[in-house]
Amino acid sequence: MQQIFQYVEGNRERFLQELFALLRQPSISAQNQGVAECAELLKSHLDAVGVPAMVMPTAGHPVVFGELKSPGATRTVLIYGHYDVQPPDPLEQWKSPPFEPTVRDGRIWGRGAGDNKGQLFAHVKAVEAVLKAAKRLPVHLKFLFEGEEEVGSRNLRSFLEANRALLGADCCYCSDGGMYPDDQPTVVLGVRGNLYVEVTAKGANRDVHSGNLGPYVPNPAWRLAHFLATLTDESGKAQVKGFYDDVLPMTDSERKALAKIPFDPGVLTGLGLTPDPAKGGPFYFERVMFQPAMNICGLTSGYGGRGMKTVLPHVAKAKIDMRLVVNMDPNDIFAKFTAHAREHGFGDLEIQRLGSFYPSRTPIDHPLGRAAAAAARQGFGKEPLLIPCMGGSDPDYYFTKVLGMPRVNVPYAPHDENNHAPNENIKLEGFFCGVKTTAAFLHEAAKL
Ligand SMILES: [Zn+2]
Repeated sequence: MQQIFQYVEGNRERFLQELFALLRQPSISAQNQGVAECAELLKSHLDAVGVPAMVMPTAGHPVVFGELKSPGATRTVLIYGHYDVQPPDPLEQWKSPPFEPTVRDGRIWGRGAGDNKGQLFAHVKAVEAVLKAAKRLPVHLKFLFEGEEEVGSRNLRSFLEANRALLGADCCYCSDGGMYPDDQPTVVLGVRGNLYVEVTAKGANRDVHSGNLGPYVPNPAWRLAHFLATLTDESGKAQVKGFYDDVLPMTDSERKALAKIPFDPGVLTGLGLTPDPAKGGPFYFERVMFQPAMNICGLTSGYGGRGMKTVLPHVAKAKIDMRLVVNMDPNDIFAKFTAHAREHGFGDLEIQRLGSFYPSRTPIDHPLGRAAAAAARQGFGKEPLLIPCMGGSDPDYYFTKVLGMPRVNVPYAPHDENNHAPNENIKLEGFFCGVKTTAAFLHEAAKL
């Protein structure tokens, strides 16, 4: 490892210049700006480090795939990343132009620096370092770089299903999102799923005067309010029959992992809330990682503007997201949700399903987690935190469920990477420690 790390140190400036070229190339998937050009540029980077690559079409933006077989290796690693970025607006809030990468305060600033070109490029340079310093890779390697993550990975699933043999591997490794505060490296083993629905209550065919017509006209805002009140009890526990049926109890090793994650009460005080001393870190972590949730995202009906308007609305809508944990199935939960509405006498409400993700988790005792932790320890020189599951949702299950391989995520961007926002960044050390971590991971993965 020492020689590989020395190679990384000896090539810092060139690695940065190459990353900057990638960051200068816009690749805004939502606006189809520069995406195809960026795919070609990325392919040329893979070819240049010795990983033959191709740009593969999908129904949307292309996938960049590269593969290098290594003589004598027995394990195959699939590295996933995405080269598309979010639109840079609002432009006036950037301290330096989004597509002109700049180094300030030990960080690289620019759109894609953290999410995800900077992190993805660390993998590419790691392969170069291993090949140059150690002459061969310890594993067979496949790169899968997507161009549509920022628009919901809408063609990734069909791409994976159509290319199972090409993509087959023993595990999937990726680096996305931010590290824990204080540059604490993390090994993330899963995500919650979600199910997003919109519930609509309808009354008359238009808003009416609440005084004159109130007695004749049903009020959909009340109808919706009564329905929403049936969904949880006052503590927030979902009341939908069977909602918790498939939730797995936490294991001892999961409990131990939660106890090690530092909890910053500032998360609450910063939001103007008072932390409850009876509820420490493990209380919150269990809820955000191992418990499902029923959340009202938005409520709209009638008049919400300034002053008085005595109106009886004709429609009321609620948007609801249900966070799901392993082994909940969004199809099953949707069926239970609609059955709940019928059984409680709300069969007249329209319930529209707007989207869903399966929950996904690689077990905390899986050797892949230990391999990633050993790699992060070498690359960052710090003991990493094991995060069993993120509270949010992403298509992790495409890998764990569709391709059937364990997946681990080791973020290289800082917790304040400003992804999707102005002044996106990655720390210089996050990038270089990331290069080393990926290089170390390839060696750890060979032992799996
Ligand atoms: Zn993103």
